[in-house]
Amino acid sequence: MRYIDLRSDTVTMPTLEMRKAMYEAEVGDDVYRDDPTVIELEDYAAKLVNKEAAIFVPSGTFGNQLSLFTHCNRGDEVILGDDCHIVVHEVGAASVIAGVQLRTLKSNKGMLDPDEIKSKIRGVDIHYPKTGLICLENAHSNGRVIPLDNMEKIFKISREYDIPVHLDGARLFNAASYLNVEPCEITRYCDSVMFCLSKGLCAPVGSILAGSKDFIERARKKRKLMGGGLRQAGILAAAGIVALKNMRERLKEDHENALYLGRELSKIPNIKVFLDDIHINMVFFDMSDTGYSTSKLVEEFYKKGIKINGDEGGIMRFVTNYWVTKEDINYVVGTMRELILK
Ligand SMILES: *Cc1c(COP(=O)(O)O)cnc(C)c1O
Repeated sequence: MRYIDLRSDTVTMPTLEMRKAMYEAEVGDDVYRDDPTVIELEDYAAKLVNKEAAIFVPSGTFGNQLSLFTHCNRGDEVILGDDCHIVVHEVGAASVIAGVQLRTLKSNKGMLDPDEIKSKIRGVDIHYPKTGLICLENAHSNGRVIPLDNMEKIFKISREYDIPVHLDGARLFNAASYLNVEPCEITRYCDSVMFCLSKGLCAPVGSILAGSKDFIERARKKRKLMGGGLRQAGILAAAGIVALKNMRERLKEDHENALYLGRELSKIPNIKVFLDDIHINMVFFDMSDTGYSTSKLVEEFYKKGIKINGDEGGIMRFVTNYWVTKEDINYVVGTMRELILK
């Protein structure tokens, strides 16, 4: 049975073109740097975000944590938002792998206050840890895109104090699409960036960490330490190349579909859709006033061929992707209407 899957953009299957590229990929042992397809992906990825070098990693979490591990020394302090992926959804890895202390700042819908960042940068004192890194996230996992002038202000401060900036750009190309800019217009405000190939871009596995040549060289050794030295990874990189070349430009379709889904859902009585937050492919809504339980919705939807997640703190999230068409959305909204208004 074919399901309409709105749980996340991580559920995307590889396209036929990716499967063909994987089948035909020329490969080698990448720990020896013998895999031409991995090298091609890394070179292409670095250029795309206008950084000197890039490294292929197994997942987004791996890429973020590798970045912390490479930028920082044990005991350093990292400044970041209290609702960012690194803090909320990475299993506390920063304390295990890099051994850093996280200094979380209250985020305003994913945005950090540059003045507050400035005030939290540590001076020299025998009691203090060193501020080792500032982390930003764009697009944010709350579905919003952070304005470039906010990133620019924070980046300027980071230059004043000589502190590197890492960007969690898991959905960097969604942000670029929303802002209608080239990805490098976003990544100019960071020293390193991680982005996912395996979300909206549909590759089966993998993320990229990009930065200066020296940084990536050091990251390559640490990736090995973390067990991420991959062998014939060109099989995976081949899909990543297709993802970056052919799947970026079409993300706007997912965004249009999300907006359409949000607007249609908002027409159902007592469903409160956060329409202003639909920047990319995510629709957040509150259906508590309908009196229909979210766990029942998960169950009933499943029977009708729709996969969704339950609520998180009372808020539901539907995510559009390449495999979800406008007709699918009409079916979802129709099914929702039927269930709730029955
Ligand atoms: C998905 C995501 C990640 C991590 O990616 P995985 O491949 O699932 O480990 C990191 N940051 C953000 C903002 C994400 O949405």
